[in-house]
Amino acid sequence: MNPAGKPGKTGSLMPVEVALARLLEMADASRIVDRERLPLAQVTGRVLADDLVSTLDLPPWPNSAMDGYALRKADWAGEPLVVSQKIFAGQAPDALKPGTCARIFTGAPVPAGADCVEMQENTEVLADERVRFTETLTIGQNIRPQGQETTVGELILPAGTRFGPIEQGLAASLGCAELDVIRKVRVAVLSTGDELIEPGQTLGPGQIYNSNRVLLCSWLRRLGCEVIDAGILPDDLVATRTRLGELKDVDLILSTGGVSVGEADFLGIALREEGELSLWKLAIKPGKPLTFGHFRGVPVIGLPGNPASTLVTFALLARPYLLRRQGVKQVEPLKVQVPAGFDWPVAGNRREYLRGRLENGRAIIYRNQSSGVLRSAAWADGLVEVLEGRTLVAGDSVYFIPLSEVIS
Ligand code: AMP
Ligand code: MG
Repeated sequence: MNPAGKPGKTGSLMPVEVALARLLEMADASRIVDRERLPLAQVTGRVLADDLVSTLDLPPWPNSAMDGYALRKADWAGEPLVVSQKIFAGQAPDALKPGTCARIFTGAPVPAGADCVEMQENTEVLADERVRFTETLTIGQNIRPQGQETTVGELILPAGTRFGPIEQGLAASLGCAELDVIRKVRVAVLSTGDELIEPGQTLGPGQIYNSNRVLLCSWLRRLGCEVIDAGILPDDLVATRTRLGELKDVDLILSTGGVSVGEADFLGIALREEGELSLWKLAIKPGKPLTFGHFRGVPVIGLPGNPASTLVTFALLARPYLLRRQGVKQVEPLKVQVPAGFDWPVAGNRREYLRGRLENGRAIIYRNQSSGVLRSAAWADGLVEVLEGRTLVAGDSVYFIPLSEVIS
């Protein structure tokens, strides 16, 4: 399997990693630091504001990893031992009486004086209820020591950690009932285009349904953002200016469409007039035109309007930007190297993100990779990255970015 390779030349186009680095730099410069305190159950998808340091040893005391018998190894000389107490999880045991053993269950504290636990399968309970141990014993066996997971003062989750079920579980194990998280990023979503109408309305000539609006709004909510749905913006300068001016109390204006070459670029004009604008031509496919700027101080990202382009540029550029605004360090999705299950004979000058799936361990791609075809992404489980300047034959190695890595 050939390695996934190095990117080739992109000509005058901006390489994806350069665009990402610039966006992250700007996100760092406008970090959101305001916080709110939330019950643990409500922090899913949110970002921890302060380091979470353990105030406990976990487990707080040595406990049994098995159902069996706790004893002191030195007390076992071949003669069966009397069971002097029974310890269930949740109970506080007495010290072990010398020369005896204790019946113990998983998770129960190991009594002082015991130094090993034998699982019940390796014991024989005699008619007089004494216990014979049938295997060799080792000190410490089947005992989960105090502080095995964490000790008081240890850093458990650094500030900037995004909560998922696992992090929530870990915080719960330390007794956290409430946590300080970064306040939600407020994102206004704008769909631009005279051709757009909303589902539920009747299509007229030349019209299409707005798919980007719901796609981005629901994605952003899953990301933990507060969404201000700013609806459809007609291709008109006055309307653009007015609508942008209404979006005051937001952290980002995220628009789609109206950034292709040749189109009357009203968003761009409005940003130039009352803020600043960078128009980037990215070495990315689908995608390419991307706008970054400010309108009266509010950051604006303009994604290309074709649905598959919106998806790819949001996943790889806008999503990391939004996470970094909240202080998340690791913002790029995990990629795995897999063999390609297809040929790619013509090298492009843009990095392609093909909508694909894994089948028998190989990446295969949807038959139609047009940027207008959102169905390709619904069919897909991930994005297959083909670097600029590269051709492939089946069996060559490619990177695969699972969609599950980015759709959350
Ligand atoms: P634009 O970037 O405005 O030139 O749009 C590029 C293509 O994407 C055009 O075919 C648009 O009709 C389409 N498009 C733009 N915005 C949306 C949207 N919100 N939903 C569906 N298609 C869109
Ligand atoms: Mg348009």
